[in-house]
Amino acid sequence: MKRLTLTLCAMVLAMASWAVSRDNYTVIISLDGFRWDYPEAFDTPFLDQMAHDGVKAVMTPSFPSKTFPNHYTLATGLVPDHHGIINNNFVVRKTGKVYSLSNKETRTDPQYYGGDPVWLTAKRQGVKTATVFWVGSDVAIQGDHANYWHDYLTEGNMPYTARCAEILRLLCLPEQERPHLIMAYFEQPDRSGHKNGPICHETRRAMESMDVLLDDLWQGIKHLPYGAKVNLIVTGDHGMTWLNPERQINPAQYLDPAWIESIHNDFPVMINASKPAYVNDIVHALKGVDHIRVWRRSEIPAYLNYGKNENMSDIIVLPDVGWYFSADKLKNKGSHGFDHTCSDMWVAFRAIGPDFKRGYERQGTFRNVCIYPLLCHLLCVDPSPNDGSLNEVSDLLK
Ligand code: AMP
Ligand code: ZN
Ligand code: ZN
Repeated sequence: MKRLTLTLCAMVLAMASWAVSRDNYTVIISLDGFRWDYPEAFDTPFLDQMAHDGVKAVMTPSFPSKTFPNHYTLATGLVPDHHGIINNNFVVRKTGKVYSLSNKETRTDPQYYGGDPVWLTAKRQGVKTATVFWVGSDVAIQGDHANYWHDYLTEGNMPYTARCAEILRLLCLPEQERPHLIMAYFEQPDRSGHKNGPICHETRRAMESMDVLLDDLWQGIKHLPYGAKVNLIVTGDHGMTWLNPERQINPAQYLDPAWIESIHNDFPVMINASKPAYVNDIVHALKGVDHIRVWRRSEIPAYLNYGKNENMSDIIVLPDVGWYFSADKLKNKGSHGFDHTCSDMWVAFRAIGPDFKRGYERQGTFRNVCIYPLLCHLLCVDPSPNDGSLNEVSDLLK
């Protein structure tokens, strides 16, 4: 009996030690392509200060390590196979339409966005929310948006200083109107990572200017009368790795065009066969080719959490890290989308504020599906069903 009482006391104490206040605010910034080691490789004093005064960790993306699938995973806590945005571009099997980040009609169609993004979870429970360009936030998911949101299509060229000014404006609203969650997106350092490669002079410059920008934002936040109540999380969607024209495999060497209905030369490459019988031909033609792995949709290994979605292609081809399976001429020096367990795809995570430990460096990675339950916890709202776990990240909290 005594032991049971002690155990219960310990459990209550453990829970109380990461209890949060509904008065607090959380700003989460996504830097697209914020590879886990950029703050080690480059000169980023603000991110270093965040590690010193807050929490430093490394997060693994979900597969595939692409922008749309992962931003929407961060928002919903669901792996792409479960929320439906299975790649930046994919064929919708029932209609033959192509969902694409660059096709306004499909990108803004709520039917493709499953799950419950945190800006809606919290809003339904009476917490005001705001987004500044997060993937999915300008789509009327469940017929609704965050309390405050911006349209990437019409405003996406908003300068970064204006995005930070918008975050501060939102935090300066009268208390009744002020959002407790602000989610904001920046295209860098992904743009530079693609154009110039991950660890290089130009990406250093891009990353270091983001560091200055975030420092200014944090100074602005700290000077608010309630600045001490604001948590700031800086993270991203995936990492980046080098590509090289010498590591290109041309599908035309192996595949008969008559076998193929559609092929999306993304990472992973998604192939639909023109007739069911050709699935075997395609798989046999590619099995054994060096530097790629090929699977029928039913054979995708379980650790990728991929393949059950209704829009999954007949076949996926996953090049080894740094390899490129396409007939198109290589345009970029860097890319991502590879196996998410490869460290080049991992993401940096920094957090500072009243609910986070000070000077804590987490050992071992955590999965990005845990961001959704973490945000729900910080906002004191009940999460919808998700693939993450608050326990996996509770060590980050005070
Ligand atoms: P990728 O590197 O190909 O995975 O995709 C990155 C690109 O996604 C960026 O260059 C952005 O321009 C684009 N992007 C990010 N968020 C949005 C959005 N909400 N709507 C449309 N495009 C976006
Ligand atoms: Zn991205
Ligand atoms: Zn990218």
